[in-house]
Amino acid sequence: MTPRFSICVYCGSRPGEQAEFTAAAQTVGRWIGEQGGQLVYGGGRTGLMGTVADATRAAGGRVVGIIPKALVDRELANRQSDELHVVDTMHERKAMMGERADAFLALPGGIGTFEELFEIWTWRQLGYHDKPVGILNVAGYYDALLAFLAHSVREGFMGEWQMDLIRSATDAPALLEALLQERTRHPKSDKLAQIL
Ligand code: AMP
Repeated sequence: MTPRFSICVYCGSRPGEQAEFTAAAQTVGRWIGEQGGQLVYGGGRTGLMGTVADATRAAGGRVVGIIPKALVDRELANRQSDELHVVDTMHERKAMMGERADAFLALPGGIGTFEELFEIWTWRQLGYHDKPVGILNVAGYYDALLAFLAHSVREGFMGEWQMDLIRSATDAPALLEALLQERTRHPKSDKLAQIL
């Protein structure tokens, strides 16, 4: 059956210190599965990445993993994915994740998650795509980042319009619903492929 939507989830390859992080990843995966959706993600089985993929599958959702060949062992490539793409480079991974998803959601994570979040946000501000981008602020994990972004606006390095290109929330189902409702108008995904 064709999935109703595809959501790309960026999140930690580690579980983090708080039980809420794992619980949030389970909630997101379960929601995607229950709503008949598809998870697009980095294809690993470690940390929150593995948790969100397992929860999606357990709830009947489809899982698309995209992993660079150099990380197949380190991040334990998820062979149970409905699709597992082993690509040559990190750039290919991120471009493919960008093309395959209708919307993007960042959960707590580390430097890899930050990089992916900022890149997809930057691509949106440049008009490479117009797909919704969300931050799930679990247990206040992103409070300091959101405060810093507001600081950047105040200091004149960013405009409010750029902040309007991402949304953050603490409630996973409400945020996922909002992202799906926003995904009404985005250019054909092959535009991303042409530009990148
Ligand atoms: P982390 O948030 O650091 O645990 O990483 C989460 C995911 O981001 C993992 O799948 C990493 O492979 C990926 N990642 C790590 N470094 C990068 C990078 N430079 N660019 C894009 N993704 C990365």
